Amino acid sequence: MTDRDRIVVIGGGHNGLVCAAFLARAGREVIVLEAAAQVGGAAVTREFTKGFRASGCAHLSYLLDAGIARDLKLASHGLKWARTGLKTVALASAGDHLVLDGGKLESGTLSESDRAALAAYHAQMLRFARVLAKQHNRQPPRLGGGGRSDFMGAAKLGLDIRLLGRDSMREFLRIAGINIYDVLEEKFESPLLQGALALDAVLGANLGPRSNNSILALLHRLSGQSNGNNGFSLPEGGMGAIGEAMAAAARAAGATIRTGSPVARITLEGDVVSGVELENGEKIAARTVVSNADPARTLLSLLGARHLETGFVHRVRHIRMKGMAAKLHLALDALPAFARLPAELAGERLLISPDLVYLEHAFDHAKYGQCSPEPALEITIPSVHDKTLAPAGKHVLSAIVQYAPHDPRASGDGPRRELLEHTLGVLERHAPGLRRQIVGSELLLPADIERVFRITGGHWHHGELALDQMMMVRPVPGAAQYAMPVTGLFLCGAGCHPGGGVMGAAGRNAANAVLATERAA
Ligand SMILES: Cc1cc2nc3c(=O)[nH]c(=O)nc-3n(C[C@H](O)[C@H](O)[C@H](O)COP(=O)(O)OP(=O)(O)OC[C@H]3O[C@@H](n4cnc5c(N)ncnc54)[C@H](O)[C@@H]3O)c2cc1C
Repeated sequence: MTDRDRIVVIGGGHNGLVCAAFLARAGREVIVLEAAAQVGGAAVTREFTKGFRASGCAHLSYLLDAGIARDLKLASHGLKWARTGLKTVALASAGDHLVLDGGKLESGTLSESDRAALAAYHAQMLRFARVLAKQHNRQPPRLGGGGRSDFMGAAKLGLDIRLLGRDSMREFLRIAGINIYDVLEEKFESPLLQGALALDAVLGANLGPRSNNSILALLHRLSGQSNGNNGFSLPEGGMGAIGEAMAAAARAAGATIRTGSPVARITLEGDVVSGVELENGEKIAARTVVSNADPARTLLSLLGARHLETGFVHRVRHIRMKGMAAKLHLALDALPAFARLPAELAGERLLISPDLVYLEHAFDHAKYGQCSPEPALEITIPSVHDKTLAPAGKHVLSAIVQYAPHDPRASGDGPRRELLEHTLGVLERHAPGLRRQIVGSELLLPADIERVFRITGGHWHHGELALDQMMMVRPVPGAAQYAMPVTGLFLCGAGCHPGGGVMGAAGRNAANAVLATERAA
């Protein structure tokens, strides 16, 4: 084997690590080069205030592919769960909270018709999500042209939709084209239930409840639950524990992982990949380079537009990838008391999204560059279940703040201070006294997420997950099979099919694509 035979993986996010692990298991020499000091990417566990640690961006596991976890033996590489199967609590300002376990109401007030509709809605959405879940571990077929496997891939997708049965198939096609607002208005009476269910459809997306594609985003989120994982779960040690276990699996298979190693550029000999050059000038030869960085960063910045055809560059430049979610971390000197919420429920998944209009208004502000006075929140207090995150008796609150302006009108630190103030105002209303418990805080806006985690646009999925950017056209038409138009270059991150969330499928699919390309050569 020569130096040129090695495979370089740029980025040690969870997808890069999964890709490296499967390539190393197939006997390849693999080096992972991660820019940050730790592996895990946006799902890393970091100290944000002395003694308090939180999951950087991703704070809940609900998509992790059960097959990948099993194949890589993540449990024997150290992954433990602090809590699985979290319930969802839709917080009501008047205190009549709804406690939901999937499609079941555990406590709170709902009409009989809403209870029945909830069970039916949940079952139906899971059925639809299963169609998406079945595609996660398949390479998307080429649109037009292609060979037998592309034909079979397209046929399998068609069959999966057809197997829903006539009525479900009609409903699937109907709702996929509308939006979560209209669907929830049609099915439920309770504004609180509608608000909570809608938040799940727009978390991480640059979509309001009235936007097209919000149903597809919801189905992506639910696809984990129909794929055999543990529902909303918290790894012991925060989400970074998943990446650490994946890194251990990759190392055990023979991969080398170097942190603190930012790649400056992908090098070519003629029009074929020859390796990478690090920011410190070090050159590493490689026959294949697989990038876990987002498609825009990989192709426009690390490779360079001049090596690509103009039409392709145009498509990459126009990937919609403006993040609208912010991440809040609070270090607290005690467990916050949410009004009329029994203390034993404080560790569940808490949502503040009281109705559809509230959520749409929060989106409207961010859309026009402003900080909503009333953002919607997905809150976890992982330290209730995991004592490794905060000093004894103290707690960490982690919240996704939906929405944050991607392009704030105001400059400097104003938008961060404003959004923090508004978010704390919303929290204080639900948990009086919380402000006094704060001993440290961090609010990451989309621009911070871009800078800290090197995700262009700070987008949850490395690119909006929408009909025009999904499956056969993800990240862009003509590049959905992980191989890029330059020989030897592949993508393996959330920007590829099947998209973001801590799942690992893009990493494994990319490893399979690399191995298939080698076999075909
Ligand atoms: C606010 C927010 C909240 C989220 N919450 C959740 C959640 O609760 N649950 C969930 O499942 N998902 C969540 N997500 C989504 C999830 O974090 C991402 O989809 C997922 O982390 C993507 O994984 P990845 O491995 O593809 O890429 P990343 O995690 O982005 O990893 C890419 C890696 O590449 C590295 N890199 C980039 N450029 C270079 C370079 N030039 N040289 C070397 N290394 C480089 C980066 O440093 C990074 O480590 C959230 C996202 C956001 C933004």
